[in-house]
Amino acid sequence: MSYFLKRTENNLWHGKFSTFPEDLITHAVSTRIGGFSKSPFDSLNLALHVGDEPADVLANRKKFVQSLGFDVADIVTPNQVHGDKIFRVDDNYRGCGCTNYADSIPETDALITNTPALPLMLCFADCVPIFFVDVENQAIGLAHGGWKGTLKKIAAKTLLKMGDEFGTRAEDCLIGIAPSIGACCYEIGGVVVDKCKAAFPNNYRELLIERDGKIFLDLWRANVIQLLEIGVSKENIDVAGECTCCGSSWYFSYRAAQKKGFDRTGRIAAFIALK
Ligand SMILES: [Zn+2]
Repeated sequence: MSYFLKRTENNLWHGKFSTFPEDLITHAVSTRIGGFSKSPFDSLNLALHVGDEPADVLANRKKFVQSLGFDVADIVTPNQVHGDKIFRVDDNYRGCGCTNYADSIPETDALITNTPALPLMLCFADCVPIFFVDVENQAIGLAHGGWKGTLKKIAAKTLLKMGDEFGTRAEDCLIGIAPSIGACCYEIGGVVVDKCKAAFPNNYRELLIERDGKIFLDLWRANVIQLLEIGVSKENIDVAGECTCCGSSWYFSYRAAQKKGFDRTGRIAAFIALK
């Protein structure tokens, strides 16, 4: 395991995968610490669509993006809808969604690019952020996998799309599965159980974990399995293994917020750019 948290000069934290080449890409997972938003978005909420004060979110985005050496006006963000649409972006999309949610890339849950210095950013509160780094063809991707996206196999589809667009080969691609809700906390109901069995007919037994008469879904493993199935090397998949619900003092977690009686919370972000 090579995920670690690094403190920045402006008192933020960057969650990072040591397996990713620093000379080729800049990447980080944000935490909830060090921002300007008030409860229940305290404090580094990076999402514009959750009901937080836009001025606070923009101040947070500016602080986080600057801490990575980029300008907030350059980031590209989608309007995430738990689907499996993957969209290739280039310089024509620079800044889409950076300050105005209405001009985000519409209804998209994964972005891919081979344009240098074009940062991709997606937002999360328990769903799984999946990073893709193709060193060979200098291309990157970032996907959002909640239970819907994971069962629609958005991780595998993102990599296959990188293959179509950039020539990415599964066996060469580096993957990072960032902090998100773990099987320790992700209790699911019967509908999701049935969909999981249909999506993973050969593997659902290891994905559905029974405990105290409840069923929990292992989203991390479900994403790993679908990547192994298309030829990704086991040693190239790095799973952070940190649960956002258990670690809700560090990360925004929708389930943890619900337990505390909040119906809203902030979002952490996953960020990646080619140099
Ligand atoms: Zn947990």
